[in-house]
Amino acid sequence: MLLTISTEHFPASDLGFLLHKHPDRFQSFDLSFGRAHVFYPEVSEQKCTACLLLDVDPVEMVRGRPRDQNFQLGQYVNDRPYVASSLFSVALSQVFRTALCGRCDRRPELAATPLPLTARIEVLPVRGGEGFLHRIFEPLGYQVEVIPHPLDDQFPEWGESPYFTVTLSGTKLLSELLTHLYVLIPVFDNGKHYYIGEDELEKLLNKGGSWLACHPEKEQIARRYLKNRPSLYRQALARLEDQETETEEENSTPVQQEETLERSLSLHERRHAAVLGQLLASGAHSVLDLGCGEGKLLRDLLKERQFERIVGMDVSIRTLEIAQKRLKLDQLPDRQAEKIKLIHGSLMYRDKRLAGFEAAAVVEVIEHLDPPRLASFERVLFEFARPETIVLTTPNYEYNVMWPALQAEQGTDAPRSPYLFRHSDHRFEWTRQEFQDWAKRITEKYGYEVHFLPVGEVDEAVGPPSQMGVFRRMKMGRPKDE
Ligand code: SAH
Repeated sequence: MLLTISTEHFPASDLGFLLHKHPDRFQSFDLSFGRAHVFYPEVSEQKCTACLLLDVDPVEMVRGRPRDQNFQLGQYVNDRPYVASSLFSVALSQVFRTALCGRCDRRPELAATPLPLTARIEVLPVRGGEGFLHRIFEPLGYQVEVIPHPLDDQFPEWGESPYFTVTLSGTKLLSELLTHLYVLIPVFDNGKHYYIGEDELEKLLNKGGSWLACHPEKEQIARRYLKNRPSLYRQALARLEDQETETEEENSTPVQQEETLERSLSLHERRHAAVLGQLLASGAHSVLDLGCGEGKLLRDLLKERQFERIVGMDVSIRTLEIAQKRLKLDQLPDRQAEKIKLIHGSLMYRDKRLAGFEAAAVVEVIEHLDPPRLASFERVLFEFARPETIVLTTPNYEYNVMWPALQAEQGTDAPRSPYLFRHSDHRFEWTRQEFQDWAKRITEKYGYEVHFLPVGEVDEAVGPPSQMGVFRRMKMGRPKDE
């Protein structure tokens, strides 16, 4: 596994000072799982490149460890020697410890100067596809170039692999770049080789610092970094949230970060604008936002005088806490505060609190539900809550071809892998036809009618990135018997 870091800062050989590794030497370091080597394939005043090569010994890794009962050979035959994983982060922190901390005793001014830097990770395993790579690195101010790799050159029909060559460029402190790599490499891979305990939480908060608190994907980052340990993850989010509030108050978010963030959110915002438009047009005065997440649509709904009663529901308490904070519910004037309520609940269960509303929004939620349980959701919403208008959106799977790493196998019966979905938490993604078939079945069963609208730029061949169904309850409609 290879990482290269280059600079064209003048004189470029300063990189040797910053990394605390002499450009003329080839140095090796013993680690518990193999050896790391540092060397410089090019050194001049104009350009300097340092390499960190990690030589993982897969046999050494399994000594004294419990065996995986499912696939015993997997201990020896695995991708760890070839990819950037949590092992790589460990190597980075051991070999470049001082640089990672931002220290350079001989040239302190250098450590405090942002330099034009380029890092290339030769092979990064990414769960979540190319889109996820961009969503993670771009808000940090990097230009991101990605080369996807097919599973096997000989068999292109097998499609893409989860492996990418990633090049990041930006003007950064070297310590920033190293820290981003240290924290984020294991996040892409989503599989750590070591036990995740309290100290990992501290490491994340320590190294993540303010950039993580402002990152639009901080939840995913924390969840994956802490390897889905919910208790640690909740603590991390709570503490990051506090940090973010402080940063917001200081008003110190870099403009560049904001711009990139807006770019990455534009589809999201367009989707909410489209949903809001439909809710307004429905004439509804009371509205539910089901699976409201952090409350972005709720914020828009609150601004509209037409809506007199607004309820946001989500299954995640933590998300609701964030929504509560974001919407500053405790600071709203009484009249505003009276009209909105956040409730904790699941769309899987019939819930009396959802009855009696004129409209409901279900924005990018159904794809998070397990397909076998979709039937429960259908009844909860269309049979029991039964609002007059339902505005529902979900990704259009066909559009994934527009993101090269999410090559959809259109027209084939090949199984869809979660690697091909936009978010690792998606349980399915539908083509336009699949969504429309589902929606039409619903309308017949529960006495609704539906029309479909695109969300985002429509591509002639594959349609829009996201799709919306607007359901209206028919006057005489009655749910059909099973
Ligand atoms: N509608 C929001 C959030 C979309 S993300 C937006 O457009 O920004 C999906 C949301 O659905 C998450 O907040 C998740 O917690 C929620 N969710 C997932 N399963 C759910 C369930 N069974 N009941 C209610 N909410 C659920």
